[in-house]
Amino acid sequence: MRVSQLYAPTLREVPAEAEVISHQLMLRAGMIRKAAGGLYTYLPLAWRVLKKIEAIVREEMDAKGGQELLMPIMQPAEIWQESGRWDVYGDEMFRVKDRHDRPFCLGPTHEEMITTLVRSEIRSYKQLPVRLYQIQNKYRDERRPRFGLMRGREFIMKDLYSFDRDEEALDASYRAMYDAYTNIFNRCGLRFRPVEADSGAIGGSGSHEFMVIAEAGEAEIVYCSACDYAANVEKADLHVIQSDLPAGPAAVSVDTPGCKTIQEVADFLQVKAEQTIKAVAYTSEKGVVVALVRGDHEVNEIKVLNECGAIALELAGEADIAACGGVPGFIGPVGLKNATVIADLSVMAMHDAVAGANAPDRHLLHVEPLRDFTPDKVADLRLIQQGDPCPHCGAPVKKARGIEVGQVFKLFTKYSQALNATFLDENGKEKPLVMGCYGVGVSRTMAAAIEQNNDADGIIWPVAIAPYSVVVVPVNAKDAGQMALAESVYASLKKCGVDALLDDRPERAGVKFKDADLIGYPLRITIGPKTAEQGQLEVRLRRTGETVFLPLEGYLPEVERLLAAVDQPKAE
Ligand code: ATP
Ligand code: MG
Repeated sequence: MRVSQLYAPTLREVPAEAEVISHQLMLRAGMIRKAAGGLYTYLPLAWRVLKKIEAIVREEMDAKGGQELLMPIMQPAEIWQESGRWDVYGDEMFRVKDRHDRPFCLGPTHEEMITTLVRSEIRSYKQLPVRLYQIQNKYRDERRPRFGLMRGREFIMKDLYSFDRDEEALDASYRAMYDAYTNIFNRCGLRFRPVEADSGAIGGSGSHEFMVIAEAGEAEIVYCSACDYAANVEKADLHVIQSDLPAGPAAVSVDTPGCKTIQEVADFLQVKAEQTIKAVAYTSEKGVVVALVRGDHEVNEIKVLNECGAIALELAGEADIAACGGVPGFIGPVGLKNATVIADLSVMAMHDAVAGANAPDRHLLHVEPLRDFTPDKVADLRLIQQGDPCPHCGAPVKKARGIEVGQVFKLFTKYSQALNATFLDENGKEKPLVMGCYGVGVSRTMAAAIEQNNDADGIIWPVAIAPYSVVVVPVNAKDAGQMALAESVYASLKKCGVDALLDDRPERAGVKFKDADLIGYPLRITIGPKTAEQGQLEVRLRRTGETVFLPLEGYLPEVERLLAAVDQPKAE
């Protein structure tokens, strides 16, 4: 490709609408353009990157026995009604109707589609395992589409579904996919961590997310430096913390004028925050849910959601709180009605606690769990914090931000049972297929790669997914000698399979260098007035900024060697 013909309109200014670096740089490098919120056109450079990521994904899926197919994006409502998810999926699902008023959706995921496909085709245990995948646009009407390709409403996903005869065989499929994902993200040049994950709306149990460690990540993870434990904070389990206070006398109500936050109450009553009970009220389609945690702890909403079995939670408003006998800012577990109260394990291990009195400007002292209130449920509801003990080894955990680029799930028989997808085992007994599902966010992976690989000048592509590996830049394209040499270098690079680009534009060298840095080609070969005479090619490494000189005679293997080495960490 010649840059004079390349459709990559670069921008000098940082676009105001882009908050994160990957979004800014993809706009500036002429890789994407916005069509509407969360909808983007991938321009040719981005499309090349996506194709390279897809090729890596395909190779790794195929290596694990995956077979590629392509299912419709548009899916009939019936299969979602059959699985029970049509009503559960909520506003995130794009719903459409055909001319006969029949309901459809644009696929946010394809468990229903694939399960109804195989249920009529798989008959016997002899056909198993089956691993089918596709790479396709997915549609989710995200509440907050943002950060460019990181959270789109249309995005590219690879989704593979595994069908096995039993849990042991599912374990093997899961392990194969886990290993494939590790290979994929390594090959894409990303620094990532697999973490234990909540399985969310997809259901089932047993899941890992692959997190690219980056500040712009929307997910929070914890990891232990003493052992290999790592988890999404949503999922991280926590043990009970026992209070060392003795049980108090009978509870009494005291004035706490204007003290609405835990800190205000603790300061006013001269107690530690850990001696107070925090009550957080939510509304859900199952009514009001009140979560209780210690005042110094935070509520993990995902755990609350899992415990109460609701589809979604919203913070309760004044009227909802009043309807269950509470007062905003002074809500507590004693005397609440018409609400499902779920207490964290550590709340039940408290003594002589302070809690809201459900009366304006008043709190209760000496509250004893079980004596003064009995929650509907007791569970681990706490959000893990930096420094909390690792659930595996007890060492303090650390927190980091991550971009979820992939997730693997064991679904077991959730969908096969709901959709009646069965097979006959070796005894002729009918059994539900045991399933797993495995997603890679292909377009998000491209954004994540930029989040991890950039500097003040632009993107620094890992070679494996760079739109082009090498750009050949004649300093003066009007100089016939330079241009002829540039053409011949370009042609020989292409001939030996190097993904090369020739910047033949009649621009100043500085402009071409700036664009090359912004777009982030791993190598830039500069052809200047002295190149031919000196018999040396000047090669600049985008990642390190180093310049090396290669002999004009026999530079090709050297370029290949550089491309193979430039992303490798240098030995200490
Ligand atoms: P998130 O928690 O970030 O919303 P998810 O857990 O809902 O993602 P999955 O259903 O696990 O997503 O989808 C598989 C993969 O698809 C994710 O790991 C992610 O890489 C990608 N993905 C999901 N939603 C989006 C989106 N809105 N834009 C881009 N990629 C996405
Ligand atoms: Mg996920």
